[in-house]
Amino acid sequence: MRTFAIVNFGCQMNEYESEKFREVFYDFGLVEVSSIEEADIVLFNSCAVREKSEQKLISSVGYARSLYEKYGRPYVIVAGCVASIKERKIKEVARDSLFMLSKGYELIYERVNELRSELSKYLNANNSLNKVGVHRVFAYVPVIFGCNSFCAYCIVPATKGREKSRPINEVLDEVKSLVDQGVKEIVLLGQNINHYGYDLGKQEGFIELLEEVGRIPNLKRLRYLTPHPAYFTKELVKRMRRINTLMPHFHLPVQSGSNKILSLMKRGYTKEHYLEIIETIKKEFPEASITTDIIVGFPNESEEDFLETINLVKTVQFDKSFIAAYSKRPNTPAATMEGQIDPKTKKERLNYLLKIQNEISLEKNKAYIGGTYEVLVENVKGNKAFGRIPQDKLVIFESSFEVHPGDLANVLITDADFIHLRGKA
Ligand code: SAH
Ligand code: SF4
Repeated sequence: MRTFAIVNFGCQMNEYESEKFREVFYDFGLVEVSSIEEADIVLFNSCAVREKSEQKLISSVGYARSLYEKYGRPYVIVAGCVASIKERKIKEVARDSLFMLSKGYELIYERVNELRSELSKYLNANNSLNKVGVHRVFAYVPVIFGCNSFCAYCIVPATKGREKSRPINEVLDEVKSLVDQGVKEIVLLGQNINHYGYDLGKQEGFIELLEEVGRIPNLKRLRYLTPHPAYFTKELVKRMRRINTLMPHFHLPVQSGSNKILSLMKRGYTKEHYLEIIETIKKEFPEASITTDIIVGFPNESEEDFLETINLVKTVQFDKSFIAAYSKRPNTPAATMEGQIDPKTKKERLNYLLKIQNEISLEKNKAYIGGTYEVLVENVKGNKAFGRIPQDKLVIFESSFEVHPGDLANVLITDADFIHLRGKA
């Protein structure tokens, strides 16, 4: 084994975990390649939130196995949520190519150690080789694993287990070490991040954590994902305003604009509560961008319920919405509810809402034209650079002087579509 590839299907938590796996491969002197075809060992980090991503995993494993049968490589590792719920199927598809199934919802770090010990049966660790990865501008840091919320549609509590917060000192040490390595932006992660600390007996754990991380010297930008509206309070927003490094972007998944559907989803809040928080955000952070997640076609969603979601989207004027058609997940209460919506209606609702959201996104982005914003440069290709403004919008810009990843550049926004901003430094 000389080369490895990592294919990531899932969320930011998976990206963090993949980064940890990557470090282990580096430790064993393996070189990263970008395609399965070139790899001696491939790690698929899977996602089970929707059926489609699960199917994608299974067909990728099948493809890797067909390569293995022809060329004797790559060996396959499957990590992530699908590994926990589809062990039999994966084994059936991967057959002899399977090197390791990294399953269970033990903490990421235990599974990373498991990979280390599996690899050490075949290879010698060589800590001095290849140790330095690409310079990273931003990094994810998980603060709470698992979820206690049991939303009726969601498989996450079954694959990731109960909430477990990391001790605050562990988080602070990890952030400090990343900042020392030159990381400029930290994104704290948790399925239900504003529940941070509850299991450690702290009621204000989340805001205290933000305050502490926000004070770390040389950290330029702080973000977090994903807060739950049920535990999001006006008081929280007000305290956030005082954290200078905290970026003005709120990702607050609403899921539906109908109280009937929110209740069937077991989300634990009403549309009114959600709108009240949004109002506070708009008052305290007038410059902020606001994004959300929405599910259409949840069981029993009538035309009227759907209209309420449309109205909410129009009222809030989200910068962006991640909209998904409801997907049945095994062993979740919603999967066996009466009143399932037919696929055609789900698709129609999805497309309709996407169209509305895209129009709003375009208007929102156009409002940035003419303004100058600080961009954290992530990537430079030829005379084009890419990066994000504090509101987390992606900017593609040209610069009359040299810029490098990690620089903060002031960029005049000259154009926008519904996804990007464009400008000149
Ligand atoms: N913990 C976060 C996000 C979890 S999963 C939260 O509570 O919002 C990310 C998104 O996937 C969810 O916000 C939801 O919009 C979507 N999702 C989860 N389960 C789904 C399902 N069964 N069908 C369709 N979308 C789903
Ligand atoms: Fe899933 Fe709900 Fe937990 Fe989010 S809060 S991970 S949607 S159960």
